[in-house]
Amino acid sequence: MEAASHTVTNQAPPLVGYDVYTSDRALAEAVGRHLPAELLDEAGEELRALGRATGSEQVREWGEQANAYPPRLRTHDRFGQRIDEVEFHPAWHRLLGKAVAAGLTDAWGRPGGHVRRAAGFLVATQAEAGIGCPVSMTHAAVPALRAEPELAAVWEPLAASRVYERELLPVAGKAGVLLGMGLTEKQGGSDVRAVTTSARPLAAPGEYVLTGHKWFCSAPMSDAFLVLARAPGGLTCFLVPRVLDDGSRNAFALQRLKDKLGNRSNASAEVEFPGTTWARRVGEEGRGLRTVMGMVAATRLDCVLGSAALMRQAVAQAVHHASYRSAFGGLLADKPLMRNVLADLAVESEAATVLGMRLAAAYDAAEGGSERDRALLRIAVPAAKYWVTKRCVPVVAEALECLGGNGYVEESGLPRLLRESPLNSVWEGAGNIQALDVLRALRTEPAALDAYLREVGEARGADPRLDRAIRGVLAELADLEGVEARARRLAERMALVLQGALLVRWAPPEVADAFCAGRLGGDTGSAFGTLPHTLDLRAVVERARPVE
Ligand SMILES: Cc1cc2nc3c(=O)[nH]c(=O)nc-3n(C[C@H](O)[C@H](O)[C@H](O)COP(=O)(O)OP(=O)(O)OC[C@H]3O[C@@H](n4cnc5c(N)ncnc54)[C@H](O)[C@@H]3O)c2cc1C
Repeated sequence: MEAASHTVTNQAPPLVGYDVYTSDRALAEAVGRHLPAELLDEAGEELRALGRATGSEQVREWGEQANAYPPRLRTHDRFGQRIDEVEFHPAWHRLLGKAVAAGLTDAWGRPGGHVRRAAGFLVATQAEAGIGCPVSMTHAAVPALRAEPELAAVWEPLAASRVYERELLPVAGKAGVLLGMGLTEKQGGSDVRAVTTSARPLAAPGEYVLTGHKWFCSAPMSDAFLVLARAPGGLTCFLVPRVLDDGSRNAFALQRLKDKLGNRSNASAEVEFPGTTWARRVGEEGRGLRTVMGMVAATRLDCVLGSAALMRQAVAQAVHHASYRSAFGGLLADKPLMRNVLADLAVESEAATVLGMRLAAAYDAAEGGSERDRALLRIAVPAAKYWVTKRCVPVVAEALECLGGNGYVEESGLPRLLRESPLNSVWEGAGNIQALDVLRALRTEPAALDAYLREVGEARGADPRLDRAIRGVLAELADLEGVEARARRLAERMALVLQGALLVRWAPPEVADAFCAGRLGGDTGSAFGTLPHTLDLRAVVERARPVE
């Protein structure tokens, strides 16, 4: 029996048993906006089911277990034969199985498929971000695979399958597959032209053997990998299956698993191709960079969505906590200064969600033939990847502080979110690479800037701070002196203006007003919680509250 002095009071209950999807109003509204009416009922039902599962005690527990018992590398079996397998806790398989069954690898060619998938990704990765990696690569491999129609005919339906089948088998015997990618080597990641892995053609057309290594190869339990290697005709993309058609294992030696800051439920390996690794060419020799860029663009959007998910989960936890915890005679959420912090965080989270979902809708429109949306993606994805992923660490750190000492303790879940937060800005090209890619888009695709300006132009005249910021971007672009050193500044401004334009068009006035004041108006300090006190901060916080 507890002593009277140990009666526990004034602790917030855990945030479980709620619908992660419907209680995220910004997300649910984006789905309603971007999907055609005839899909809304079915999509809403699917997303609500996923939202309830993600917010359930059971799934939360799986997320914790998948981190507490990280993957283990098993290079050999008991008889000394190489097996190169990774052993995961059952919780990992349950989480990944749920994500696959929810259609998070099934977007291409499906009406509204990218919006539905993006919303599901934003929901499911809130329980555990680690599953985002295999799900994202499997989804993103499709445009690259399409460079080789014969291969795509076999692998694409399996990548889109709702069946999670973890056994390594020949592709003919699989009901669903996972796909990964191997670009980065020891001597170069951003600069993939430094790749030294070599590909020697075999007699059969399109078949090669690889010699070399990959320094980062995540989700190494996947069924096949898109790998960049140097063929006689130059850098080329290859499909490397783990199991060959005759049932034997391909030479794919897992050297080590990386000991990472976060993302600990997911395995990231170093791989050696010992000169006998069988590979099938994807696209022409010498066109490898172009082929893999289709994959990289899609995974970059998932970095935006993944960061939006981390921010949303952190903000939901912070608002929830402050709605139950009292100090100095009242609830934290009612204290004017705490309300300012929460509102500022909520605005950042909503801006990330609205931008990520607009870009997912652009994928659907581009698949339907919209040139404007295709061009918008070319410039807006790297700008968004640069800015949204950069905002993730400060948002999550500030949300952690809203929980006080409890937030610093593992049981709260906030430390796990914080460890995960820097990753999306590192992989798939770190911040500078994204900013430089915005410049490349400006130089090589005039249609991309036109599409961007048309997009932000839709909101012109609605808010003077936004109009001023648009003029600021145009002034930056008019003078390209020293532009490489200014690339971050430009990417940031372009992303902020785009977020502002989307919020002014679609968010409730109090959210758009807070964003324009805080991000475009120059009317705040550098830390969160410095919005002008005259704004309707109560309404902004209320909108972000997760409904249990
Ligand atoms: C957990 C994890 C999992 C990963 N999984 C995979 C995977 O599955 N497959 C895969 O292929 N890769 C994977 N990667 C690798 C990842 O994509 C690279 O680490 C990333 O692209 C950066 O490349 P790099 O590490 O070689 O850094 P570098 O290229 O050495 O860059 C270092 C820094 O220099 C900056 N920089 C580079 N060039 C310039 C320039 N011209 N001007 C200014 N600054 C510049 C970069 O922005 C970066 O900040 C993974 C990485 C991590 C952390």
